Amino acid sequence: MLYGYEMQKHDKRTIVVTGGSRGLGRAIVTGFAKSGDNVFFNYSSSNDEAKVETENIAGDLACGFRVDVTVEDDVSAFFHSVIEKTGRIDVLVNNAGITRDGLIVRMKEKDWDDVLDINLKGVFLCSKIAAKTMMKQRAGSIINISSVVGVSGNPGQTNYVASKAGMIGFTKALAKELAPRNIVVNAIAPGYIKTEMTDSLSEKVTEQMLSNIPLKRLGETEDVTGVVDFLASKKASYITGQVFHVNGGLHM
Ligand code: NAP
Repeated sequence: MLYGYEMQKHDKRTIVVTGGSRGLGRAIVTGFAKSGDNVFFNYSSSNDEAKVETENIAGDLACGFRVDVTVEDDVSAFFHSVIEKTGRIDVLVNNAGITRDGLIVRMKEKDWDDVLDINLKGVFLCSKIAAKTMMKQRAGSIINISSVVGVSGNPGQTNYVASKAGMIGFTKALAKELAPRNIVVNAIAPGYIKTEMTDSLSEKVTEQMLSNIPLKRLGETEDVTGVVDFLASKKASYITGQVFHVNGGLHM
């Protein structure tokens, strides 16, 4: 049986990245695009300037679409347009995510729902549709961007932690479900990576965080994209249902 990766020696791979307009997602999109893959990504912003800037991330190499991962019909239209253009989906990176932090006694139901909808239901909707194509191909790799706090817990983030821990359970269940079709599903649990999400933290919180990281620095987006590249490659074709910790030793 041919692996998707072997078929791709001559053909470009088709990669879909959710939340590719900023931060980690943007770095993932740029990396794949520079390697010559066909890259499609989505984002949610309704800001037109951001849209134009985003769609030019990697010149003509990556296509961006404004698609909310929580809206099933829009997700479906997005994936169908990708399949129409390239006929396949080799790699799905479920990266889109938000935080709406707060102690539980003050957390609004909407903050709970928004985080669970985007971070977890979005992963379900995108994986469901990508899996259908990957099952026909009998090849594919799904990479879910979870978080260190999904494993360690974190006060003030019950919604976010529940979503990220949920992603890990989802990864393991889906890995078992799709393994007979030669599809691998893994999660990456990054620690604190320098993006807009962590820029918003106060100096005090950042200093406190650094004091707990054995490698004494925040992560760079490249620390995560290297693992994404590996998991998307043939080198990882016998790895499934695993969680890769990229956190400078913050949680062991
Ligand atoms: P970020 O800079 O805030 O970017 C988030 C991305 O998700 C943006 O592209 C955003 O699009 C997109 N997005 C948000 N809601 C969406 C929706 N409903 N539909 C589609 N796209 C949506 O975040 P980041 O720091 O790069 O984080 C990326 C992922 O890594 C997240 O899942 C996060 O939980 C995880 N993570 C990050 C860290 C860290 O330290 N940064 C650590 C552990 C895990 P717009 O630009 O349109 O808003």
